[in-house]
Amino acid sequence: MIIRKSPSELDKMRASGRLVAEILDVLSGMVEPGVTTLDLEVVAEKMVNDAGAKAAFKGYYVPQAGRRFPCVLCTSVNEEVVHGIPSKKRKLLEGDIVKIDIGVQLNGYFGDSATTVPVGPISPESERLLAVTKKSLELAIEQAKAGNRLFDISGAVQQHVESHGYTIVREFVGHGIGAKLHEEPHVPNYVDPKVKNPRLREGMVLAIEPMVAAGRPETQVLSDRWTAVTKDGSRAAHFEHCVAITENGPWVLTVK
Ligand code: MG
Ligand code: MG
Repeated sequence: MIIRKSPSELDKMRASGRLVAEILDVLSGMVEPGVTTLDLEVVAEKMVNDAGAKAAFKGYYVPQAGRRFPCVLCTSVNEEVVHGIPSKKRKLLEGDIVKIDIGVQLNGYFGDSATTVPVGPISPESERLLAVTKKSLELAIEQAKAGNRLFDISGAVQQHVESHGYTIVREFVGHGIGAKLHEEPHVPNYVDPKVKNPRLREGMVLAIEPMVAAGRPETQVLSDRWTAVTKDGSRAAHFEHCVAITENGPWVLTVK
């Protein structure tokens, strides 16, 4: 069942969304060659605590991993697509791209957002991968309106990404969000006839999060049991926003 939120619930989700946006803004500004992914984690954890919020990912359990996620952030570099674990050993290098994903719970409601940040100057190919992925999210958000269907969102991502020669990671998808981090529905970044295609209604909130590979889209999980990388080693980009469907159209909750 897709849970629709009342206006007062949406206000709470806006507060969690604003917090994740503020944190991502600070972290994006920190990214430069020589910074470690653990440096980002330390700042993120302090900001979450200072706001009186709870980190959504730290302690998160999935049976496939068999191990709780150990950190506040997911930091995934280059061919790492999602769920990378911050580490003091992972120093960012000029030309890298780093995906930073954060979820928080504030006043009972979750916010979840991700961005991909260039480390110093990056190659034109990587610039293009980031631009196309970011644009696919913007096009998807435009479709998040009452009366449309879920696949209007999925199809907007797919059409834009594939027409630019990139591929869509299929093992991971967006999701409903609210009093739980992951709610119905699944929000695939491609039209998937195997999942439901519900009508979008006011009060639904979706975490829309295209994950795009420059090469082949298949992923595998590293021996740390969390980090998902492209099998072919090609780079991947990831952008995510939580979007509420309202009578006034899409409302992006995860902005400052
Ligand atoms: Mg996320
Ligand atoms: Mg998410």
